[in-house]
Amino acid sequence: MKAVDPLGTQYKIRDYLNAMHLGQYVPDYLTLGASVTISAMEFLIGICLLFAIHRRLVSKFLVVLMSVWTLLTLWLALTDPISDCGCFGDAIVLTNWQTFWKNVVLLAAAILVALWPKDMARMISLSNQWIVFNYSTLFILFIAIWCLYDLPLFDFRPYHVGTNLREGWQEMMEGQDSPYAEFFIDSEDGDITEEVLNSEGYTFLLVSPHLEQADDSQLDRINEWYEYCTGQGYPFYCLTASSGQAISRWQDITGAEYPFCNTDEITLKTIVRSNPGLVLLKDGTVIRKWSHNRLPVLSEKDSVQPLERHEIGQMPNDSIPSKIAMLLLWFVLPLALLTIADRLWAWSRWLRKKKINPLNKKEERIMRKKIVAGNWKMNMNLQDGIALAKELNETLKADKPNCGVVICTPFIHLASIAQFLDQNIIGLGAENCADKEKGAFTGEVSAEMVKSTGAQYVILGHSERREYYKETPEILKEKVLLAQKNDLKVIFCIGESLEEREAGKQNEVVKAELEGSVFNLSEEDFRKIVIAYEPIWAIGTGKTATAEQAEEIHAYIRSIIAEKYGQAVADDTTILYGGSCKASNAPELFAKPDIDGGLIGGASLKAADFKGIIDAWKK
Ligand code: PEP
Repeated sequence: MKAVDPLGTQYKIRDYLNAMHLGQYVPDYLTLGASVTISAMEFLIGICLLFAIHRRLVSKFLVVLMSVWTLLTLWLALTDPISDCGCFGDAIVLTNWQTFWKNVVLLAAAILVALWPKDMARMISLSNQWIVFNYSTLFILFIAIWCLYDLPLFDFRPYHVGTNLREGWQEMMEGQDSPYAEFFIDSEDGDITEEVLNSEGYTFLLVSPHLEQADDSQLDRINEWYEYCTGQGYPFYCLTASSGQAISRWQDITGAEYPFCNTDEITLKTIVRSNPGLVLLKDGTVIRKWSHNRLPVLSEKDSVQPLERHEIGQMPNDSIPSKIAMLLLWFVLPLALLTIADRLWAWSRWLRKKKINPLNKKEERIMRKKIVAGNWKMNMNLQDGIALAKELNETLKADKPNCGVVICTPFIHLASIAQFLDQNIIGLGAENCADKEKGAFTGEVSAEMVKSTGAQYVILGHSERREYYKETPEILKEKVLLAQKNDLKVIFCIGESLEEREAGKQNEVVKAELEGSVFNLSEEDFRKIVIAYEPIWAIGTGKTATAEQAEEIHAYIRSIIAEKYGQAVADDTTILYGGSCKASNAPELFAKPDIDGGLIGGASLKAADFKGIIDAWKK
């Protein structure tokens, strides 16, 4: 509504500024820029909400925007400096209190959306969102600029093409409520409104609220039309709110010979959104309007014919339905086709996935990522660490692994190793990160710092950190959020102690650990987590869980993920086993349907040992 009438929106912005006594400080180009920007921004927020694009960001921004609008309209309702808020351009006019309550409802809706942004169903996949956003941006800017160059695409004002001004004005004279109360035409000889409106046949009105600011690039064409009117006997008036001095100046510059009449400034701005603009009346009815940029050309042949024989002497046939059809064709249809194609593609992908994966456990495993991750713990100085990473890098470049490989090193090694590691083959990760974003936390390393070294992963919740550094589920929850905020992939460790296993509490323990720190995540964020099941009694002890024991609890972990996030997410979640995993036992462990690789401590400190485990995926 606003974008089809940028000048109308600009006038409204100026009304607001004047009401705040700021009008004289803000030049017109800024108010016009603000008009186009606000219109485009509101339109794009709407598009983002419809398609669920950048749900979290957009919904937060929406709350901020609606809060500003609501406060502004509360002020408007309380002090009444402007009669209409302009929220819907001229299409729907609300009282100030109606506007305020409308905004309260919209603000409440915006808050709901911001609280549960992920509940908005995606209409388009992530990879195609940019098309929708960019196309909509181009579209709305094109519409606003075109309407500025020409006239509003849809004219909701009481002077639109087809309006019988004669009747409207008559009703006003009879005392009925009417939008024409400020419509008058004063000539040197007095009020000629009735004469102009009652004139039979054609009348041309050149409308210029301010001649001082009028565009003078089309003077010749205007003069040609005036000459034509004189020849054909059609009245031609210039309606302006300018002073006599400005009129004389205009006459000097343009050589204008047409008569000038005085009319209310706001009425002139309402009649036609162009300065100057030309309006053609026939028997008191508006039948044509032109902006100065699109004045019709008078050909030699036409200039001797009466208007009845011209096409422009008739009411145009570009009706509202045909304009709506054009918008549907150029905007809605392409986006609808894109959405349908996108959804079909997503659906077919889902079907294909289902076909490959008909509840066959072995095939199922192929769908999720297999990973072998090393956890160096507090071992090796920088030189030894670099040497090991280099050796591993060369080895795996020469003999490509059949799975994802990650090494998680002490913080101090990360930046150096990141420089030469081929991260397409070996991912790099930290063993921990802080539960605070930044600040006075001496000795801590934040997720952002880890990310800035070039690392992509971080191990969180390792039993050694839970036990020796008293990391609670709440602390880990914070760490996970911060790691994800910084785009780090989290390898989240869970596992029971020997006493808990002996008491048969292993399932209870891993469930509580997941619930305490990662089950608060949205489905989208949970999908980014890698789980590492590490029975504490098997870590560094040489005691491995048997493949059967490990499989049993992995299957249980997958089942509780399915309960929480659904089977599809559970099927896609990588669950690693950790605890004295070696090249000798890895093949048996990895052969189990719910074990998707390993988190390796001691055996990741020698390239050959680690490679042996990685190669288990080749067996
Ligand atoms: C670990 O600490 O994550 C681990 C599995 O260690 P190890 O392989 O030495 O048992």
